[in-house]
This record gives sequence, structure tokens and C-alpha cells, in this order.
Amino acid sequence: MPIWNPWHGCKKYSEGCVNCYVYRRDESIGKDASVVTRTKDYDHPIKKNRSGEYKLKSSDGIVFTCMTSDFFLDTADEWRAGCWDIIRERKDLDFFIITKRIERFMQCIPPDWGEGWDNVTICATCENSVRAEQRIPILISLPVKHRQLICEPLLGEIDAEKYLKKGVIEKVTCGGESGNNARPCDFNWVKELRRQCIRTGVPFSFKQTGAVFIKDGRTYHIERKLQMAQAKKSGYSYIPGCDSGAEIRYTLPDRNALFSRLSASGFRSRFTLSDEEKNYAVQKGMDTMRIHAEDFVLKRLSQENPEKDGRQTPMKGHPVFKAQHATACCCRSCLEKWHNIPSGKVLTVSEQKYITDILMYWIEEQLKK
Ligand code: SF4
Repeated sequence: MPIWNPWHGCKKYSEGCVNCYVYRRDESIGKDASVVTRTKDYDHPIKKNRSGEYKLKSSDGIVFTCMTSDFFLDTADEWRAGCWDIIRERKDLDFFIITKRIERFMQCIPPDWGEGWDNVTICATCENSVRAEQRIPILISLPVKHRQLICEPLLGEIDAEKYLKKGVIEKVTCGGESGNNARPCDFNWVKELRRQCIRTGVPFSFKQTGAVFIKDGRTYHIERKLQMAQAKKSGYSYIPGCDSGAEIRYTLPDRNALFSRLSASGFRSRFTLSDEEKNYAVQKGMDTMRIHAEDFVLKRLSQENPEKDGRQTPMKGHPVFKAQHATACCCRSCLEKWHNIPSGKVLTVSEQKYITDILMYWIEEQLKK
């Protein structure tokens, strides 16, 4: 993975910078990371060997650019034009630029930028909902050929779905914060962002847990060397069309505990069968009700990314629809939140049977009332 750091050092800029790894690393060697200097590697991508060939080959992979600073830092304004010249010269290399200063992009591009260059990916970082609302609208409006979103360190829940729907963000990456003073990352934030990516068909990468990771309300302190491995092992990255969630291990909830939680939910517990719906169920018989339930589960829930997920189950019109809302089996988000069944995967036959059993149990209990 080639890294090109044309300058080093940065100014802290937003919440995500508080425990900046550049500052941490520099402090450990007695250096002041707030002093921004041009590096000896400024022209790294165009350095040549004795044979006159570029040292950096196109086969070396993506060039991660300005990883110990911010490419759009104002202190570096005088050096940036030279970098664009280098990027223009090395059209055979792909440059990956991550920034927290996306609002400076338009004033920092070269005159011949046009609608963007094929070999440049621009990534905006946003760490919480406030920064997401500030930076994502800018990111999606820019003339760039490739753009990604990086939510790292993830410091809170982010609602990016309305922006992801536009279909111009190529990938979302998220991860927790590392280091001694790391702030916690809640797995629920990661899963929520992943569900937004699934619904909008955007690839998602869960890169690292961070040092303080909250899962199911419990806080875990995770060693640096395990943070990426644990995120990978969780299986919570997502590639559309690849049944990515099939690798996720989970445990179905205990039925009594589930129904106790459902009855405590004001929204779920307000669903009951009307007399008309009860008569319909009795007339059709429970075998037919089960066939209907199996059919709804198969056709509206079982796909990796069901059409109109979150809106595919009517609120009324069939006893099974009511049962789905009452038991949180109405969409894939609810199935993940209430039943632990991961989104982004095709439902197995046994998962479909589990859901159908829950629906039938609820209908049978309603008929007793
Ligand atoms: S913008 Fe990036 S490099 Fe600069 S201080 Fe913030 S986290 Fe560090």
C-alpha cells in the first residue's frame, strides 16, 4: 500500500481530531505535529530509478495521499499545485485523498480539473451527525469522478441515507477510535450505518472496532492489534449482491424474553387483531394462515436487500401483516434489531421458519383473547 506524504503536520479541526494519531505519534518522539512542513517525499510518485523508470509502479496499488496531514489544509496552499502536477503526470496511479476540509475543495483544485480526474478519489470524513450534515451535502455536490465517505472515528449515530440514495457515494467506511484516550464506539451505530448502506446498495466496510467498543450495552477494551481483526471477524462489512451477512454469527432471542420486550413497546403492543381479522383467520384455518405467512416472509423479507425495505409490510389488510408489526418481523431492520437476524443476507430456510413460527404464535395468542 503506497503512502505519499507530501507534507507532514496538521491543525486540529473538529471533534474527530481530538485524539489525532499524527499528534499521538509525533508526541511519542518529542515532535510538534502542529508544525506543518513539506517533506522530502514531496515528489515521491515521480521519483525515478537509475534506468529512468518511476520507482512507484502502477501495479503497486492505490496511493494513499497525505496521511499525516490534510490535503486541503490552508497552511499547505502554496505546495498543493505541485501535487496536482504530480497527480496529473501519474495518470497510471490512483490517488486516494481523505479530508475533513471538504468545504475547501473548490478553491483548491487545479484550473484543468473540469468534472474531475479518473485517478483521484476524494473521501470526506465525518465523525458524528453534525459533521455529516455539514460535509456530506458538499461531498455529493462536487465535480469528482470518485467519492467515498469515511466515518472514523465514529463518535455517534449518523443518518446518511438520504445522501447515499443519490447514488454517487461509492463506499462507506467506518471504525472506532484507537489510542489510550479513545472515545467509545457503539456497535449499534455501526450496524445502523451498515443498514443504510444495504438499503441504498452502497458497499460498506467496518474497518476497526476502536479501543473502547460497546456491544449489547457492555463495554469492551480491545487491544490495538485486535481492533481490525475483530471488525473483520464480525462479518459486518457489506458488498451488494454478495450475501455478505451470511458469515455473521448471532443468537436468536429467547421467545419469552422477546414477547416480554414486545409487550413493553408502546408501538408493538398496540397491534391487535380485530374481530373481522380473527373471523378471517378462523375461517381460513391455521394451515392456510401459515401458508400466507410463509409466502409473505419468502417474497417480502427473505432477499439480501428486499425491495422498499422498511415499507414492504402494510399496516393492515391481513392478520399476518398485523402479526409482523406486532412481533417486529415487518422489515429487515426490525428483524436485526429485535431478533438479531443480520441484514444484508438471504434468509435461510430455518430463519424463515423461525419468523413464521413467531407470527403464527402471535396469531394463535390473539385468537385466544
Ligand atoms: S484533520 Fe486529520 S490529520 Fe489533521 S488533525 Fe484532524 S485527524 Fe489529524
